[in-house]
Amino acid sequence: MATLILGMARSGRALARLLQARGRAVVLADERLAAGDLPDDLRGLPFHGGPFAADWLQGVTRLAVSPGVLPDAPAPRAARAAGIPVSGELEEAFALAGAPVLAVTGTNGKSTTTTLLGLLLESQGWLAPAGGNLGRPFSELVLAEPDADFYVLEVSSFQAETFARFRPHAAALLNLTPDHLDRYGDAERYYAAKLRLFERLAADDWLVLPAGGGLDARLGGCPARRLRFEPCGGAGAGGGPASDAGATAAAGGDAGADGAGLRGGAIVLRRAGRETPLLPAADLRLVGRHNLANALAALACALPFLRDEAALAGVLRAFPGLPHRMEPLGRCGVLDCYNDSKATNVEATLASLGGLAGPLLLIAGGRDKGGDFDLLARELPQVRLAYGIGEAGPSVVLAFGPRGRLAGDLAAALRAALDEGRDGERLVLSPACASFDQYRDFEARGDAFRRLVREAVP
Ligand code: ADP
Repeated sequence: MATLILGMARSGRALARLLQARGRAVVLADERLAAGDLPDDLRGLPFHGGPFAADWLQGVTRLAVSPGVLPDAPAPRAARAAGIPVSGELEEAFALAGAPVLAVTGTNGKSTTTTLLGLLLESQGWLAPAGGNLGRPFSELVLAEPDADFYVLEVSSFQAETFARFRPHAAALLNLTPDHLDRYGDAERYYAAKLRLFERLAADDWLVLPAGGGLDARLGGCPARRLRFEPCGGAGAGGGPASDAGATAAAGGDAGADGAGLRGGAIVLRRAGRETPLLPAADLRLVGRHNLANALAALACALPFLRDEAALAGVLRAFPGLPHRMEPLGRCGVLDCYNDSKATNVEATLASLGGLAGPLLLIAGGRDKGGDFDLLARELPQVRLAYGIGEAGPSVVLAFGPRGRLAGDLAAALRAALDEGRDGERLVLSPACASFDQYRDFEARGDAFRRLVREAVP
């Protein structure tokens, strides 16, 4: 009667601790670890290492796979053949959580929106820890914060693949563009995985969507009540920082819907046909039009749970955003440097840079996820020079034509940019690719760039 947890990274460990604390039997497994690699508190538990073997499933009633495990890997395949339900960490923790879940998904902006939503709710006096795909795993939140009023979760498509009972009380779909084509093969399969988050929403739940209706068709059958946020031009839209978009009035054909939007340069809440201005969009601390959309999405998601509207503006004025997302690194030589290592797909890079005036220098490349670099080159005329790094470096250079320079790695790219940069130009690491060819993850890539920039400052 045990749950087999396959994948002993952060979320697997957190789930093992939660299930143990609730008196459930667990068996741990990781094809790439030995028992000695486990943290002290999990070492006494039954553990399987090495390649999957059929006897791992003996006495097992559920299999919880880490999001990194492919659905047709040997273990989930064998479990399904044996009639053992295959689930994931979110699904298992959901069954043990004592408070409603507010979930955020989408191709881009999830972490920023999730973090901000948690802060907005805390400003209302709710205990609303945020985590999931970012920061602390859901299992850890459930274990450490049993008195939470809400759990605010970022949900990835990998996590949603195994959903069967997971039902958020409010769920936001920020945007949907092709990503992770290496895992899904085609965009429709990726969209289908993402949309599993919304499958169990009921009439008394909330569905948060961009105004304008672009994503409505995909969720037409969802009975939940709708909330709207203005998408602010979407990925790749031009213009200045977030604040510059403040002049645009309500976008889309459903400006009257409840949610959050813009009116005459102010961020407004909309409820039952009434608009309440909160603060000038120019006062947002976040940079970029995409981040304005994220802020509006977080507000729309918080709307049903507000107790003190006046407290919202303070949070929006103070929230600086997350590291590795257009994080200003300051001046290096003649260049103004930004770390946008989190932009791991073409749309993310378009969103980040679309809001910046040129001319600018771009560092892009890494592990190619099937992104369209020609689109990048076409949509970003303000990029004067593009330095290609990593496996996708040559493809980036090819796409940018005479503006492309093959640099190989970050250090070489920075050296070349310092050499060729002109006074006051921006240099942005916004790779449009995954990091795994040269780094452990996007954080390691961004940290490396930050260090290189600091060391290069004369
Ligand atoms: P996620 O968790 O979905 O990856 P983040 O909040 O971490 O999202 O932002 C990652 C990157 O995605 C940002 O650096 C930015 O380039 C891009 N981005 C953020 N928000 C949006 C948005 N609303 N639309 C398009 N791109 C965005």
